[in-house]
Amino acid sequence: MGRIFVVELDGRSYRCKFCGVHLAMPHDLASESFHCRRGKAYLFTNAVNITMGALEERMMLSGMHTVADIFCCCCGQIVGWKYEAAHEKSQKYKEGEFVLERGRIVGDMDLSTEIFADTGFV
Ligand SMILES: [Zn+2]
Repeated sequence: MGRIFVVELDGRSYRCKFCGVHLAMPHDLASESFHCRRGKAYLFTNAVNITMGALEERMMLSGMHTVADIFCCCCGQIVGWKYEAAHEKSQKYKEGEFVLERGRIVGDMDLSTEIFADTGFV
């Protein structure tokens, strides 16, 4: 369930840590050095297999933004948020982009070491 939206990913992708579904591709990675209140995060220009929560105004380190939490469409875990609008001109580049929290996704480099190996694709 939910995999129907997955496109060909050429073997490399970032996946939900909880259920292993694809969430984003490396070529959509805009920044690896993003930080949020809960720690490191990645900024992507696109994400798949997600559902969005309600829009809300949220104060970030970089100013006020209109954001929506995003959830994995398969397991329902929150995985990050989407920037709908930035109030600061200098932050406009983030509009329409997705933040995936580092602690909630796994990438290629983690596949051999994380719990994911025991819980994925059954
Ligand atoms: Zn999931």
